[in-house]
Amino acid sequence: MASEQPQKTIPLRIFVDRENNKVVVVESTKDFVDTLFSFLSLPLATIIRLLTTNNEQQQQQSNNDEESSPSSSSFLGNIKNLYESVQNLTPNDVWNPVCKQMLLNPKNPCESLCTKLFLNIDDTDMSSKFFVCDSCNKFTTFQNLDCTCGKPINRQPKNLDSEGQGSGGSVHASNGVFVKENGSLFLVFDDLKIVPSSMVTSMQLLTELGYSDLTQLEEVTHNIGKQEILNLLKYTLTSHEPLTNTILKSSSKNKDKSPNQFASAVRVKACTCDIKMDVKLVRSKSQKKIIFAEASENFVDFMFSFLTIPLGSVVKVLDGNSFVGCVDNLYKSVENLDSSRCTDSRSVLLNPGVAPQFGCPNQPLNIPHVQTPATTYYYGTGTLKQERDNRYSSVYYNTIVVPVVEGVISKTTGSVSNAKALTAMDPRSPNKSIKDVMGFVKRPALYGVGDDLQVKSLSANSCLAYLKEFSFPLDDLEVKAISIGEAEALSILAASLTSKSTLTSGLEDFFNVPKQDSNLTSKYIQTSRLDELAKEPKPEN
Ligand SMILES: [Zn+2]
Repeated sequence: MASEQPQKTIPLRIFVDRENNKVVVVESTKDFVDTLFSFLSLPLATIIRLLTTNNEQQQQQSNNDEESSPSSSSFLGNIKNLYESVQNLTPNDVWNPVCKQMLLNPKNPCESLCTKLFLNIDDTDMSSKFFVCDSCNKFTTFQNLDCTCGKPINRQPKNLDSEGQGSGGSVHASNGVFVKENGSLFLVFDDLKIVPSSMVTSMQLLTELGYSDLTQLEEVTHNIGKQEILNLLKYTLTSHEPLTNTILKSSSKNKDKSPNQFASAVRVKACTCDIKMDVKLVRSKSQKKIIFAEASENFVDFMFSFLTIPLGSVVKVLDGNSFVGCVDNLYKSVENLDSSRCTDSRSVLLNPGVAPQFGCPNQPLNIPHVQTPATTYYYGTGTLKQERDNRYSSVYYNTIVVPVVEGVISKTTGSVSNAKALTAMDPRSPNKSIKDVMGFVKRPALYGVGDDLQVKSLSANSCLAYLKEFSFPLDDLEVKAISIGEAEALSILAASLTSKSTLTSGLEDFFNVPKQDSNLTSKYIQTSRLDELAKEPKPEN
């Protein structure tokens, strides 16, 4: 790998409470706030990938690192298991290799905004390319997707429509990405409450935190770079004092439970979706624990699709109560920031949705799929150009064809020579037709989903061997078939982020409850989850 340019850093003015070894507040420019806000645009798979890579790099740099690895936290633990289960899928399990890549490298729905960030941590390939099979007149935006004729699609035509738009659009960035650029500063508190800097706000908020005397605080300056931002992302998801953990590389002496994390009660959501997925839950009677679920393709597609959901949409669908580290505070900071301070793009972060073609159809959660506009693309072997014919004394133009090696593509026929309309392909269907989109895995199929979200295909593997792994006496196991609707789906999503026993935490209450109105069920489950969380000592770091 080539050595990169000098590392970009953002200057921070940090106020440290030395007595308690705590970062109280950081004052910074909008560049830092924009990067923090962009965490909400990251799909869960991207977060796992970024943190795994960053963790490996740091372990190489120092072996005596006393910090725990990301997998020790429940959030990263079970979502990581889900990610690794997708890595282990064989070509027989998915329609095509692209489906697997989509789940492991989902597109950021705010990618064009994020490329304008001063410091962007999302390293997912942001280029939007077109690939065309010129014998079938079909196209895709996914690399390495074979055409329906069976041939690999290597032809990468020049996109005439993207010409003249400049590269990257860095012009816009000077106006701010999510936060307006007007030279003003922001205060970022240790729990990621973020407000515009002002003397009055500082006074009020510091007094609230118990600092009556500014001499208690030591001021230091620090330049934060990409690696530290990745650490900050990790602690945002796993801790209640991410700035202290990142900047001081330790925890504060103040071991108080996070302020008001459980105080804001979960509102009951009205269930609006009719889609149900059937699963069979297998539970140990003696341990009162769901051991695994036997499920078919729709449920497994739904579980895998967690990886494609951006953090902002996860918080949105859980009504602002994900209970993941300081993520809810970050979300509220975006929500509460005065609109005069924000660009129009701010609102996108509050529910970014899943990028076009990356969503899971036929599932009960209300997460927006950004739709690809129904556009017809035209392909040709070259461009058309008007050239003056000098053989005539009067002004006369000829249309000539300028060949382009890989061809050209455009939404209009005007400049395309011998234009042919193209049909779009979608990887998520057996015949790659956009009309038959089903999901990522082949069907019919049978899967085992473990309590820790390790997912195994049982189509080619022995079900008895799977059962044997758990080493439970068969007479201790009970089975219940349940339908996963919106309430159950929300509960599983919430539990996947906060509990190492996702199925038990998410579905235990549904195991014994007779079928009833799903709104009631939703209320019941969410209240009991709150009780359970309040009892549990908070897993830190
Ligand atoms: Zn073809």
